[in-house]
Order: sequence, then C-alpha cells, then structure tokens
Amino acid sequence: MSSKSTKMTTLSQVIDPERMKVITSEFSRLGEKSYLDNAGAAIYPQCLLPKINYDLMNNVYMNPHSDKYTRDCLEQIRCLVLTHFNTDPSNYTVIFTSGATQSLKLVAESFEFTPEENDSDDCGSFVYLRDNHTSVLGLREIVKEVNADIVDISHEEFTTALNPIHLKSFKRNAEKHSVNSIVAYPAQSNFNGYKYPLHCIENIKNGCLNSCLKRHLCEVNCNWYVLLDAASYVATNKLDLSQTQPDFVCLSFYKIFGYPTGLGALLVKNTSADVLSKKKFFGGGTVDIVLTSEDFHVKRQELHERFEDGTIPFLSVLALKHCFDTLNDMIPRVINNDVMDTISHHTYYLAKDLYHQLNDLRHPNGNKAAVFYLDSNFNDIRKQGGIVTFNLLREDNSYIGYAEFQHMAELFNIFIRTGCFCNSGSCQRHLNVSNKEMKDMFKAGHKCGDELDLVNGRPTGAIRVSFGYYNTFNDVDKLVLMICQCFVRYSYTKPKRVMNTDDIDLIKPNKIIFKESLIKILNERFINIRNINLHQDITVKDSKITLTEIAIFPIKSCGAFKIQNGWKIGPKGFEYDREWMIVKDNGVCLTQKQNTQMCTIRPEIDLKRRLLILNCKGMTTIAITLDVGIGSKKKDTSMCHSKVCTDIIQGFDCGDEVADWISNALGISFLRLIRQSNTDKRSQKRKDSKDQKLLSLSNQAQFLLINKATVRWLKDKIHDPLFSDDIDSLTDRFRGNMIIEMSQELAERDWQKVIIGNHEFKVEGQCPRCQMVCIDQKTGEKTVEPLRTISEQFGGKLRFGIYLSYVGNVNGSKDSILRIYSSVNPCSNNNEDDISR
Ligand SMILES: *Cc1c(COP(=O)(O)O)cnc(C)c1O
Repeated sequence: MSSKSTKMTTLSQVIDPERMKVITSEFSRLGEKSYLDNAGAAIYPQCLLPKINYDLMNNVYMNPHSDKYTRDCLEQIRCLVLTHFNTDPSNYTVIFTSGATQSLKLVAESFEFTPEENDSDDCGSFVYLRDNHTSVLGLREIVKEVNADIVDISHEEFTTALNPIHLKSFKRNAEKHSVNSIVAYPAQSNFNGYKYPLHCIENIKNGCLNSCLKRHLCEVNCNWYVLLDAASYVATNKLDLSQTQPDFVCLSFYKIFGYPTGLGALLVKNTSADVLSKKKFFGGGTVDIVLTSEDFHVKRQELHERFEDGTIPFLSVLALKHCFDTLNDMIPRVINNDVMDTISHHTYYLAKDLYHQLNDLRHPNGNKAAVFYLDSNFNDIRKQGGIVTFNLLREDNSYIGYAEFQHMAELFNIFIRTGCFCNSGSCQRHLNVSNKEMKDMFKAGHKCGDELDLVNGRPTGAIRVSFGYYNTFNDVDKLVLMICQCFVRYSYTKPKRVMNTDDIDLIKPNKIIFKESLIKILNERFINIRNINLHQDITVKDSKITLTEIAIFPIKSCGAFKIQNGWKIGPKGFEYDREWMIVKDNGVCLTQKQNTQMCTIRPEIDLKRRLLILNCKGMTTIAITLDVGIGSKKKDTSMCHSKVCTDIIQGFDCGDEVADWISNALGISFLRLIRQSNTDKRSQKRKDSKDQKLLSLSNQAQFLLINKATVRWLKDKIHDPLFSDDIDSLTDRFRGNMIIEMSQELAERDWQKVIIGNHEFKVEGQCPRCQMVCIDQKTGEKTVEPLRTISEQFGGKLRFGIYLSYVGNVNGSKDSILRIYSSVNPCSNNNEDDISR
C-alpha cells in the first residue's frame, strides 16, 4: 500500500488555498454537500446571478431581428466564444443551438455525403467511434435516410490508427474527391474522462483512417470531415482551435459554466461550411426570401443566420458574457497563463488522487476494494481528464451494486452519477458485456438509468466521479472516508500528499483525528452494547403471531401517530394515513430525504373533536379540522397538483395559518400543507392487476407490515458501534403501519396473504428501502445504519418489511376496525412476487 502512495510525490495543489477559499465561498449553498457530478452539469458560482440580473434590469434588450443594439451585443458574444477557443470569426463561425445534442443533429441533417453531380454508385460514410455519447449514436437514424454508409469503429482500432507511431509512416492525400465522409468522436469520453487525440485531426482529414476502415467504407477515396463532440472535454479543458481544426465542434454551455441551460453551440470551420448544404428546414430569420404561394425560398448566406432557426434564446446568450467574465475573474492563471489549463490541472489532480486512494484500498483479507474502468492510469494529463469511473467490490470479490452505492453516498451528502452515463459503447466495453447479454439484461427488465444495478452478480453500470474547479481534496477525502466506512470498514489511512505550496492547512485531512476519536468511541460503545444485550429478553417464545402496534402517518414523511386500540380501514388504507403532505413553493412534495427534521412534526388525530393536531418541539401546537368544506370555505381555488412518485395528485390547500406554522417548524419559507382530494384516484402501480387499489400519499402500497423479530435479527447483525438505537427506535425507522411480534425472523418475506383479526390482506411484495431508514425518527439525525447492514445481509437488495393491500372482511364480520393484539395468520408461498421491480 505504502509503496504506491509514496510515488504520488508530484501531486500538486494547483490553486493556492487562499484563492480556493474564495472560489468555494461562491458555492456556499452546497453546505455539507460534495458535488461530484461535474460531467453531468457544472454548477454556477453564486456571484454570477446578480451580474446577469443587473444587466437585465438596466438594459433594454429586444428581439435581435428587430433591434440592432441587441444584435450587436450578440455578435460580441460570438467573438467571446471564439476567443475562448483561441480562434476568431475569420476561421470559425458560432451557431447557437439548444445544446451539444442539437449541434450534432444539425451537422448530420445538413451534411452532404454524396453530391448530386456524382452519378456513380459511390457514397460517403458516417463513421463513429463506438464509445460515443448516445447523442452521436442517434445520428445513425438521420444518416439512414440518405445515400451514405454507416460504419462503427472500436476504441482499439481508432486509437491504434491515430497512434503517432503509425501516423509517422502515413502518406498525405490531400486531393479533392467526389464523396464526403465524416467521422464523429468525443474529445473526451463522458464515461471515464479519457481524452482522445486531437493533434491528429489534420491526419484524419488527409485519410489516415482509410487503411483501417478500408473493408467497411463504401468509398475510401473521400473527403474526410471531423465532427468533434467536445461537450465533455471543454467543460474542464482548453480547446485550442488555433492548434487543431475539427470541421465541426459541438458543446453545451451548462457543462462549462453551470448556467444557462438550454444553450449550446456548433462551431463550424468556415472553409468546411459548404458541406453543410443539405439543411432542409427553415424558420424565422433564416431565409433571404420566401414565397407563400410558390415553393420558393433562398436561405441566408451568413452561416449562423442560415442555421439559427427561429429566435435564438438571446437573453441566455447575453448571460454568457457574465459567465466568461466570472470564470476569468475567479480562476487564477496558474498553468500556461490560462484559466482552462488551470482548471484542467486542478481537476486532473483531484481525480488522480482519488484514483490512487481507491486503487490502494484493500479489504482486511487483502482483496482490492475497487475495479476501474479507465483507459489511462493517470500518468499523462493529455490522455485523462478529471473523472474516475469504477465499481466497488466486497471482501469476497463480488460486486457492490451502483444503486446501493449511490444511496449510501447520498446519505453522506455526496452526489455522484451512476449507471452508464448515456454511453453504452464504453459501458459494454469496460463491463465486458456482449450485445446479446445487453439484450438479455433488457429482457430481464434492466433499462438505461434504472436501479437494477446487478444482473446475476454482474454490474450493469458503474460509478462516475467527476470534478469541477470548485472541488477540493476535502471532497476526495469525504468520498474515500465514506467508502471506507460503508464498504471497507475503518481501514482509512491518511493519503501522502506532497503539495507544491507551503501552506497545506486547508487541505490537511483531519482523518487521523477522526480515526482516533472513532476508535475511542468504538471502545466505549462496545461496552454499552454488551450491556444492553445482556438485559434484553430476546424473543417471544410461543408460535402465536400478534399485531402489537398500529401506526399511521397523517402527513407524508412526518412523525407517526401511534394508535391506542384500533383504527378504521378505509378505501385507501388506514383512515387518515398519509392524507396530507407538505409542498414547497414550487409545488414539489417535501420528503425526509430533503429535510430530515420532518419526522419531528408529530401529528395526532382527535376523532371526537374532529381535529388534526400538530406538535413539534419548541412550538405551540396547532390544529386544523378534519372536515374539509365544513365551517371554513372549501378552498377549491387553491386546488393544486403535485407529483408523488411520478403520479400527479390533486389536493386542497389547508390555509395560511398551518402553512406558516410548518414553515417555522422546519425553517423553510413558503411551505404549504396540502390534503389529498377525495376525488383523487391514485392507485397502486401494478402492471398486471385489474383490481387496482386506491392509494393515499404513501409511496407504493396501502399498508406496510414490519416483523419485530426481523428487526431484532437485523439489530444483531449491525456491528457499527456508532449505532445506538434500541429495538423500538430501530423499528420506528421503518415507518410501518402494522408491527407484529412472532418468534421467527424473516418469515414474512414468504407470505402471500395474511389474515389479521377479521381482515384479509394480500401481500404485494417487499418494501424497497432508501436512506430514509437512516434517519432517527426521534431526532431527525442521519446515521449510516441500518441501510449498510440491510444491504450487506440481503446482497445489495435494499428491502425491509412487506407491503399489504386490503382484500376484505372474513368470518362474515362487517367490522371495519383493525384492533391491536389481533392474531395474525399468514399463508406462505415460495414464489417471489415483488411489485417494486
Ligand atoms: C453531455 C454530453 C453530450 C450531450 O450534451 P447535451 O447537453 O445533453 O446535449 C454529448 N456528448 C458528450 C461527450 C457529453 O458529455
């Protein structure tokens, strides 16, 4: 372990700590969060917004087609964009688009593969690297429509053909040919940050790919054009168009600046513009003349005028000025006197540090804890950007699913991307999955972006950590610490960093201190745990199963209301269970995932006085009526729609007074309390069932049943000394509606139906779990357990408790009340029937 780390001597802190402090202060809204998905989207510095605001408040911008001043401002910005890429309007033209994807599409739609005057059978080809983003793969569908061949090229073939050693012997071929071919590749892989060669673009244009593509191309003697997908590369690197000249460059601005979204560019090399002659559509200001009663139009001569259909998002384009200014002011020019070079070194060293730390991670038995999906081993910044893509392994070398990892990471306030990142080519290559296996996984129910992270123990995706200029070594350490705590168990060692600056205080990791204090706590807690175990009466001895507790959660995500005797079963589950929810001012439902304090709001239902009473520590209680429409005016006016688990639901607003009370209790402004409308027909999501059950605002099913014996079993498996819950508070974390006592743990997992008292219920499957079980329901504090142990015990399947739906009365009873201490009679089967997948 140590031999590797000592090699990391050149690890540099590119931006000095003082300046780094200023930079991170622009992201103070992140709070404790570590944002490690810069390749998904950069995030914007706070000072950017007032600048844009001031500009818009003090200037009158009009439609650029009407107003010369606005048009001139936009021209300025086109120049700024070109300056950023070290070129100018005499060499390149900026076409504003809605993003990299639209830029790519525009090229494919307009590219002339086979000029009309060519009457031979020859045709041009669309050649794409398999490791492209899906946005490039989709261009196939456009190319299919025209007379052109579609050819894919593998990573190995492509990199070999462009290897400088092979290029040395390559003979230039600069004649003009009769057909045009285009090759599309990313400047940097969005999958793993590998940087594809850019210096060889001139060679590609001169035909250096011909020999390796000979067998596939329709016509080898063609004019080559290069479509460079620079979306990932330009986010953290300098693209110098004076050094290398792709014909077409595609990018999105939010990946560089974080703002604005919906704006990208296609940069076209002026001398290559003619080949984009196939553009069909026109609209808005893109024509010089158009007749309405005759099929006649002439598109504008000026390239960007011809390509920017409609009115460009000119206010967003105007914001770019402030984006460039802010970045240039904020980032020092440490490397090559250049802002982007500084950013690329900064992010590269962070990624390199993470790579080495993860590469050194070992389980207690010596097995590696991480596998990497990289194409470089971080020894050349020209080949690697600030991204690390990997999966984690358990001690027995089995894979940890990425969805499981993501849940744990979020619990630690770490935000990363998992899955295949819209790059199935790289995903397949690195995970070693054949086309057939991909199709089989799809048949097994796996889709891009879902949570099915392992199929037969093999990963369907990976974990991608990508850094931005606002990240620091603290973010790296936080992530590695989290991985150690959750998956490798306490073997965290301080990385040996040699910084090229004297002041290393800011980044000096405090893990030594952490480790020591942890051991101290470990020792103390172990003693306590032993004591607790001695005094516990562990199991219920007889084989009788009893319903011991009923709880409802009147407000979604808030505290439980525990029922004294019995409670009425209504059409949606227990009466008043999750009938209310709290929504933010944007109409989105607030959950404990976003605000852990919600569980400290404790609702009670007073049936006699017909009130919902809300309690919260440090607040006077408040009550609202249970009877909508009686007394106070029915507030149909504020009928609102909100989304719960992708369903649109309807509800009534409960008024200002309670809204203010809740806003105060949670310390978030403008919250509202919404009651689900009686006419709302949310029903259980089951593909197959005809008898759909009505649902309240609970997530998946009408009832959730928890077996206390299983909770006890789980508690025994939890070895984290930091976890101090007793059985009752651990049970509370699962937020069940029915708690049963029995002697056998895990038995409920095999039940098919269950009769409780005089009521029959159908089992709808096991309940999938997320970080919410890591919130102590008394205090709202977050812990790592019990999710870690659940995941460990169930092989990454985060399931606990079973869902029930109501079938009806049995034994001729008409009673709609379910009573505590009713006996529980299950029927088992062995088929796994699971509604969550
Ligand atoms: C993000 C990305 C895209 C797509 O960009 P959009 O902004 O979604 O259009 C394409 N290619 C690469 C390499 C990317 O990283």
